[in-house]
Amino acid sequence: MNRYKKVVIKVGSSLVTAGGKGLDHAMIATWAEQMAHLRAQGVDVVLVSSGSIAEGITRLGLKSQPRTLTEFQAIAAVGQMGLVQAYEVCFQAHGIHSAQILLTHADLSNRKRYLNARSTLRTLLEFGTIPVINENDSVSNEEIRFGDNDTLGALVANLVEADLLIILTDQDGLFDANPAENAKAKLIERADARDPQLVEYAGPSSSHLGRGGMQTKVSSAQVAARSGTHTVIVSGNTKNVITRIVQGEALGSFLEASEGHLAARKQWLAGHMRCAGELRLDEGAVDVLLNKNASLLPIGVKAVSGVFNRGEVVACLAPDGTEIARGLVNYPSDECKQIIGKASQQIPDILGYQDDPELINRENLILMKT
Ligand code: GLU
Repeated sequence: MNRYKKVVIKVGSSLVTAGGKGLDHAMIATWAEQMAHLRAQGVDVVLVSSGSIAEGITRLGLKSQPRTLTEFQAIAAVGQMGLVQAYEVCFQAHGIHSAQILLTHADLSNRKRYLNARSTLRTLLEFGTIPVINENDSVSNEEIRFGDNDTLGALVANLVEADLLIILTDQDGLFDANPAENAKAKLIERADARDPQLVEYAGPSSSHLGRGGMQTKVSSAQVAARSGTHTVIVSGNTKNVITRIVQGEALGSFLEASEGHLAARKQWLAGHMRCAGELRLDEGAVDVLLNKNASLLPIGVKAVSGVFNRGEVVACLAPDGTEIARGLVNYPSDECKQIIGKASQQIPDILGYQDDPELINRENLILMKT
């Protein structure tokens, strides 16, 4: 019996290319077989796979790492062909169609495009296909880049409302110390995804092939948890790892999401990685947001930074600078600056009109910290 109904599986570059030796077709075939098996049992499966850059370097026979962004973008375009071809061949052997989707951050931070991507993915799942997703490296620059596929995996999990995100890597999971340096390092078998200790355990290391390290995996688990998705970080080399985890077997590190699924709009906010501006709150407003389930009023805001329009996503910061919430703001930044610290009844006098008495309505706001 499968415990989970909708799973996102993320495969890292080092794993998919056996440490950079070129695509590991044998391993790809075993993962594809497991995914096909789950698909046949009615589990929705979405695959997020890295490896285009690593495969592009191999295909082009490059001896050294590329240096410029343009080189990376061109190499990714070459490698992506090999990547999707490898998956498609394996899925076809099981009578399953795969479908390629390449995304940039800009695609998910714009609500219309987010909704579009969501409908397409839902429809692909209804068709019984297995979507194969990667970052659109060939067009993404610093501003619109996810940066790493762990983050992309978490955002895709938000997008499809997955129950589970499985991050396959070349490590056995998350350890309380670096196992390469400390023989006593212990595997974290189960933890709350939002336990701040996890970030310390993760340390800064990152492999040269992929862009993510353990830290990005932990923060991806946190992003996934915000929309009720659990995460497992586990070695992709474990036998039948995908099917065993989906059946509920404890393998690797299980990072639990303590909250259930959020409403769709909040889910979008939860996955929104970049904000157009910041509102610095006073202690009273922090208390009202965290403990009273209330909206943010102008009176509780002390400072505004950034340039934004009505309807953009802004971060709400506590007096010490920690982000406690983010939400869709009702007034543009120049008007926010005029009404902060004031009672809502004064808004019509100050601006000459009033849209909403709140700066951010509760239903458009999500807490980042509990
Ligand atoms: N999108 C990149 C690739 O396919 C990898 C990003 C990452 O390492 O997370 O090569």
